[in-house]
Amino acid sequence: MESSDSTIYDIVIIGGGPAGATAGIYAARAGLKVGILDKGLTTGALGVTSKIANYPGVEGEVGGAELLQIMRKQALSFGVEFIADKAIGSDLTSSPKLVYGNFGVYSSRAIIIASGSMGRSNLLKGEAELLGRGVSYCAVCDAAFFKGKDLAVIGKSDEAIEEALYLTRFAKTLHFFSPTEQVNVPPQILAELVEKENVVMHSGSVVREIFGEQKVEGLRFSNRGSKEEEALAVEGVFVYLQGGKPITDFVAGQLEVSDEGCLQVDRENQTAIPGVYAVGDVLCSHVKQAVIAAADGAIAAISAEKWLRGKSRHRTDWGN
Ligand SMILES: Cc1cc2nc3c(=O)[nH]c(=O)nc-3n(C[C@H](O)[C@H](O)[C@H](O)COP(=O)(O)OP(=O)(O)OC[C@H]3O[C@@H](n4cnc5c(N)ncnc54)[C@H](O)[C@@H]3O)c2cc1C
Repeated sequence: MESSDSTIYDIVIIGGGPAGATAGIYAARAGLKVGILDKGLTTGALGVTSKIANYPGVEGEVGGAELLQIMRKQALSFGVEFIADKAIGSDLTSSPKLVYGNFGVYSSRAIIIASGSMGRSNLLKGEAELLGRGVSYCAVCDAAFFKGKDLAVIGKSDEAIEEALYLTRFAKTLHFFSPTEQVNVPPQILAELVEKENVVMHSGSVVREIFGEQKVEGLRFSNRGSKEEEALAVEGVFVYLQGGKPITDFVAGQLEVSDEGCLQVDRENQTAIPGVYAVGDVLCSHVKQAVIAAADGAIAAISAEKWLRGKSRHRTDWGN
């Protein structure tokens, strides 16, 4: 795949939670060109947390998404560029290193992985069997295959809502299934979806199964608290649910993961590949707390800056 733009970042950070945002603050303050790729404010652990009261310097209770907005605003003020995109692949050993997203390819001299641990290990019944045959995780990649068809989107994050909004341009009817009554996203993006003529909201409805012989033919769901299941005919199902597993799919085959699925790093938060760092909940080495994720981000940014400086010096010496 070609790089979609000629920008080469010093550091691309995958994930803009407390770990990634803090890494961005430190790296940008050191004068580096930093891009943070993030798939949504309410898809990470801090973003879904309704109240947090133990983050130093923030008195009283604060919403997780609100705290995250403050961190991101601080990162922006130092010149960090936030890119609304989801990392779906990478080449960590090329020069520059490449991160493939839904909307482009991002080139960078160093990479910090800060994608957290909200990935899923438990799939819906039928999901794995029908993946690529009507089940998808990427609206931009697959929407055109479903023009004029009835579709379903499952999720409750802003990523799910954004993807659903994109799909409304293609779907005959789009059914949005949120497993809880409340969807914890900025009200304006929810309102935009709800107001679309071809959208049917199913709030508090839990999808139990996706079914079909050769391809998706429908799904079965029940309302929260009820055992009674209903079937709905759809030809495509886009799944954006969250769980409790480190998100590392975009580095598959390049970095080793532990039995629990976590990335491994040295004391400077560097992985086995030089110039590639990992921070926060994507590691298993520490207590899962926002302040610890933030501290990891600071360590990795300082280490990456040193590594980049060393590289530049070597390159200059060699060039002379
Ligand atoms: C319900 C709950 C309550 C909690 N309460 C507290 C508390 O009171 N105090 C406390 O200190 N900690 C609390 N925690 C833990 C804390 O939220 C986490 O330890 C912390 O958020 C981890 O930070 P992180 O940056 O590593 O990951 P996350 O906060 O999960 O951020 C990861 C980011 O990466 C993005 N991302 C993921 N995959 C991709 C991809 N492929 N491409 C682009 N972007 C991607 C996500 O959108 C997200 O923004 C709580 C966690 C939960 C779930």
